[in-house]
Parts: sequence; structure tokens; C-alpha cells
Amino acid sequence: MSRFFSEKFSALTPYIPGEQPRERTYIKLNTNESPYPPSPIALRMARQAAGNVNLYSDPTCQSICKVAAEKYGIDADEVMFTNGSDDILNFAFMAFCDERHPVVFPDITYGFYPVFAAFNRIPYETIPLQDDFTLRVEDYVGIGKTIFIANPNAPTGIALPLCDIERIVQGNPDNVVVIDEAYVDFGGKSAVSLIHKYDNLLVTQTFSKSRNLAGARLGMGFGCKALIQDLNTLRYSTNPYNINSVTMAAGIGALTDEVYFMSCCRQIKETRAWTEKELARLGFETLPSAANFLFARHPKISGKDLYLTLKEKGILVRHFDDARITDFNRITIGSKEEMETLIQTLEVLLCEK
Ligand code: PMP
Repeated sequence: MSRFFSEKFSALTPYIPGEQPRERTYIKLNTNESPYPPSPIALRMARQAAGNVNLYSDPTCQSICKVAAEKYGIDADEVMFTNGSDDILNFAFMAFCDERHPVVFPDITYGFYPVFAAFNRIPYETIPLQDDFTLRVEDYVGIGKTIFIANPNAPTGIALPLCDIERIVQGNPDNVVVIDEAYVDFGGKSAVSLIHKYDNLLVTQTFSKSRNLAGARLGMGFGCKALIQDLNTLRYSTNPYNINSVTMAAGIGALTDEVYFMSCCRQIKETRAWTEKELARLGFETLPSAANFLFARHPKISGKDLYLTLKEKGILVRHFDDARITDFNRITIGSKEEMETLIQTLEVLLCEK
């Protein structure tokens, strides 16, 4: 730390992203990216847009907002785009939380929430998930705090039904409820349909997983016009050009190419079902996943050991140090071939135990 670093950030513990190693080629099953390339339409549009990057991108994101509005049956001012969904989540912490509106989220969830809270100096509280890692809806009804819920949750993969989400939103009419739907396309039910009914609901999604654009950095948020306006006030006060024009074009292509999107999601779901069965055959316990990953543990090997051994053998999965989930690893669903290699490697490795 330099002697110039502001005191207000000196105690900050930054979020630790999953490893993105460059020194060797791994089978990368650690950051929930898509194993498939972007849609050919997205690529073509991105290439075209690249020729114009001497000009600033459109800060209003008019073209992509229009495409999204048509697709989701909403108005163009009920949606906004950000630099990955981490960006909109941070804006939501800034916009809807403070001393008077502290934050709550589950104890086991996306590790960035506590970092956003600390960064924005917002008091937060965590509510333990039940022993089976499901969320008890009653814990959140009438809680009177700003709520962040990932649905499906990460790293567990467990999804809440839409009626439970609605009970939570309805049960906190004077607080914003943020539903982080980063993984919704792999088996969850989206709450976007509820934004006209509840003015306290913000839904966030990402292009990093089901739309194969993790490196392009694109996220989107849905809410009533006033909520979106608040978030845009913050966006315009920090970086109005947070979406570059190549990414915006790729995003339009990805939203338009429904056939490719559906086919990628279907393949991931099929491979997830296959992997789940194979892991069970090898003695793993997995939580029921509606996401593009499985959260798995084995009685014969600790989570950390498994992570390290797999890494040595060229396969990266994600291990979290949190005591409650230390036995588990989060395994991204890659291509069928990648998952076959994983299962073969695990088979050999467990025989040696
Ligand atoms: N929410 C959850 C639950 C996630 O796991 C992630 C991915 N790390 C994100 C949001 C953010 O993804 P991105 O910024 O790539 O949109």
C-alpha cells in the first residue's frame, strides 16, 4: 500500500476472482464460463463495430435497450446495460443501501456481495441457509432491509421457485429486492415478468454465462423506470461509456440469435445431467443444480485436496475456503469431452485413495 492510499479503502479486502492462468492450458471448470464460442451473429456484429472504435460508444445504449425491450416485452427505459453484471450489482449497492437501508443476503452466496457492501461502507447481515443449503423464504419476509438473492444461488446452484421470490418481493414493499439471475437460463425461472407488478424489484442478468460473452463484459438489469433511472444516475456520474461499442454490438447479436442461445443452454443442461450421474456413480454428493455448474463433495477426499490434485492433472475447479462449504468444489459444466476427461481423471484419482 502506498502512503497515499485513502484511509477509507485501506482496510478493504478485494474480491478474489477465479484463477485465469496463462502459464499452461487447463480444462477450465472454475469460473462458469461457456465452453462454446459466441454466436456467429454476435461475432459478425462485433467485427463490424470494431471498425468504428475511433468514435465513442452510445452512452444511452439505445439500440441494445430496444432489442432487449422487444425481446422481454418491456419498455426500453425499464432495462439498462453495464460492464458485466458485477457493475450493476455495485450500482445497486450504491443506489439502494446505506446506514438506514442495510443489506442482507444468505451466508453462502456470491462472494462479491460482502465486498460491494464493504466498498460502499454499507452495514450488512448474512442469513444462514438451512442445513440442506436451501433458503428459508420466511427469513426474508418483512425483514425491512435491502435484499440480494442470487437465483439460482452460487455456488450451490439451488434455485428458488418464482412464487417464493414473489413472496419476498411482496413482503418487503419499502425495500429494494435484487434478484441476481446470472445463472437463470440453465434451469431457473426469471423474475423479469414481475417488474411491472412491483416497484421494488431489480433483476440482474449477465451475458457471461448463457450468452458466451464473459470476456466482452456485459450485464443487464430490469426494473421499473424509476429504479433504472436511479442506477443510470450513478452510471452517468461514474462512466457513461461503460459499454464499449464492440461489446454492445456483440450483445445485440447474442440477444438476437435465440436459436444458438437455446442450443447452448440445452447442451449444458444435458451435459450437467450426464455429469451429475457420473459423479454419483463415483460416490460424490451433488446439490440439485439449476445452473451451469455442480457443487460436489466426496466422502473420501477433502475439497481442498481434490481441487489441488485436479489442478496438478490440468483440470481447474473452484474451491472456497469458507468452513461451511470447505468439503465442496464448484465444477463448471464444460463441453461433453471436457466432462468425460474430468470423470476419467476422478475415477483414477479415487482408485488411488
Ligand atoms: N452474479 C453471480 C452470482 C456470479 O456468479 C457472477 C459471476 N462471477 C456474477 C454475478 C458476475 O458476472 P459478470 O460480472 O461476468 O456478469
